[in-house]
Amino acid sequence: MQDKLSKAGVLTIDLGAMADNYRQFQKVVGADCAVAGVVKADAYGTGLKPVVETLTKLDCPQFFVATLDEAIQLRAINDKTPVAVLGGLYHGAEKEYQARGIWPVLNSPEDIQRWGQLAREMNQALPAILHIDTGMNRLGLSAGESKMVMQSPDLLEGISVQILMSHFASADSQTHPQTQAQADAFAEIMTGFAAPKKSLANSSGTYRNSDYHYDMVRPGYALYGGNPTPETDNPVKPVVSLSARILQIRDVGKGETIGYSATHEFDDDAVCATVGLGYADGFLRSGSSRKTDSGPEAATLFWQGQPCPIVGRVSMDLVSVDLTNINGPRPVAGDSLEILGPHQGVDDLAEAMGTIGYEILTSLGARYAREYV
Ligand SMILES: *Cc1c(COP(=O)(O)O)cnc(C)c1O
Repeated sequence: MQDKLSKAGVLTIDLGAMADNYRQFQKVVGADCAVAGVVKADAYGTGLKPVVETLTKLDCPQFFVATLDEAIQLRAINDKTPVAVLGGLYHGAEKEYQARGIWPVLNSPEDIQRWGQLAREMNQALPAILHIDTGMNRLGLSAGESKMVMQSPDLLEGISVQILMSHFASADSQTHPQTQAQADAFAEIMTGFAAPKKSLANSSGTYRNSDYHYDMVRPGYALYGGNPTPETDNPVKPVVSLSARILQIRDVGKGETIGYSATHEFDDDAVCATVGLGYADGFLRSGSSRKTDSGPEAATLFWQGQPCPIVGRVSMDLVSVDLTNINGPRPVAGDSLEILGPHQGVDDLAEAMGTIGYEILTSLGARYAREYV
């Protein structure tokens, strides 16, 4: 049976738009800078295999993933293009990286020590990326550790450093001073260290300043249609659309409530649709309707471009929306409503749910029928 018939939601991933977004990055950075593909978390929920296949056809020169497991999955799809594990060199798995041709991002002197030791044991130069922390304070060598490492050739013996990288914490904000401060720290730390390539910018960083491009940019979010410059129009194309079917239409009387905990009471008679979508599908519970000082707020689905606000709680498999104010013919059971599409992008839905589009994308559920176009 077709997935579309047996599942309540349909997720469409536009690989052509994703490819256009990749080419758009190439245009923004110019011919002297490479565009890597960040494909961690199942390519931000859009599907590792189709995304890696698409980027491979575009000669993407470098992939980044978060975990060793993701790198192993990627190797089964593409066994040539370099892939680096942002999470570092997992303890006890050092030989797996080497055997599978997976690069660790070395985040600490201790990571460096273990990778160097393996290289010397195997009498083989082992490639790696060195990560310098410039203010995020999660992973990477501190400024002091960086200097120490760069002045101790012994520590790096056997390691073939391919790229020196750092990562922005606040580049999604147009005005945050941390971005330039990090770029300055990166420039300062790497003076005197001869890495063949340098890489600093994520999606947003790439759009902020061409000084941040260096030899390679590392976009993730904007490849998948997220807006890297939230203060202005989205420069990339939407990639993900999502619709879900209406299971039932209900007439609800004035004074009645809807859903768990009866959080929404109707001031007037209403017509509602029960849609087969819930938090088990990654449709976050924070999209539930809530009372605020300026009136009710809720995430919204769309019927032919008209908003259908959520009423009551988002539950595990179901959500209710209010159709009362729809002009013209209302949808019927079996019709589908738009969750992501021309009327609501990933960033719009994220705002309505009090989160960021990254969380919306990476929460995209496993229960949808998936269509790649
Ligand atoms: C996730 C990640 C990226 C990609 O960031 P986007 O904001 O999604 O473009 C780049 N570099 C590092 C180190 C990351 O962890």
